[in-house]
Amino acid sequence: MFPSSPIEEYVFEGHSFYLKRDDLLHLDFSGNKARKFHYFLQNKFPHITKLISYGSAQSNAMYSLSVLSKMRGWKFEYFVEHMAEYLRENPHGNYAGALANGMKLTIGSIESANNEDNILTIEEGGRQKESEYGIKVLAQEIVEWQIKNSVDELNIFLPSGTGTTALYLQKHLSNCSVYTCPCVGDEHYLKKQFIELEENLNYHPTILTLDKKHHFGKLYPENYKIWLKLQQQIGVEFDLLYDPLGWRVLLAHSELFSKPLLYIHQGGVLGNESMLPRYERKYKDINKD
Ligand SMILES: *Cc1c(COP(=O)(O)O)cnc(C)c1O
Repeated sequence: MFPSSPIEEYVFEGHSFYLKRDDLLHLDFSGNKARKFHYFLQNKFPHITKLISYGSAQSNAMYSLSVLSKMRGWKFEYFVEHMAEYLRENPHGNYAGALANGMKLTIGSIESANNEDNILTIEEGGRQKESEYGIKVLAQEIVEWQIKNSVDELNIFLPSGTGTTALYLQKHLSNCSVYTCPCVGDEHYLKKQFIELEENLNYHPTILTLDKKHHFGKLYPENYKIWLKLQQQIGVEFDLLYDPLGWRVLLAHSELFSKPLLYIHQGGVLGNESMLPRYERKYKDINKD
């Protein structure tokens, strides 16, 4: 379905690393959501006419599900608990993209969905077993690259939301160490997510954190600074929700660079349309050095 995404080599803050460009995987899918929803593109669902899911009105998963539904000819209804008035009146980013793909947004619980029997329900953020299918393909691409380039030992880093991507990646890369950090909840939340998907602790990635608490979606000058620096030093745009924390955690654990390190770019750049103006308004005089 997807051609293998490239792996490129860069230097950031004096550290050499490899970058898996899953942001380039597909024009319309958002990075790791293309991996997670691969299963639903690849298999037949003859009776399904409608897909439903839930989460935040700006999520990358929502946008990718609107792409999936459009490709499969399914209706798509998405449930949010609440929605900022500004976004409703000025659709942009993932929300605007999903609307353009025909999404119907409902404010309310997914339990209130019409009980038609031809519905496919997808969990928030794709936190479900079917995601393993596409993430295994990602793991296989990495193994092939390792063989081709004689990279035997490898550390892998990627920031987590639900932890689904990091978990299945570690499960299918038994010769690599996968490291991740929680961006949405804390360490305990992430651990719980791993266990719900996979009881075998040997398959769990290693969780790294910073000492300070971090709130998802909140604006931090440190996050904006490192995001700008990445752009300046390597010329790649990262997402503003997960990657800035990911990079801060990784740089705080620089022992990971003692082996070749592969960072997974999980896409999500369309979401920057809502985050970037917020950062620019709040920190317009930020020191970009
Ligand atoms: C969804 C997403 C994540 C989190 O992925 P999980 O599998 O939920 O951990 C990280 N980065 C980006 C850019 C995403 O869109």
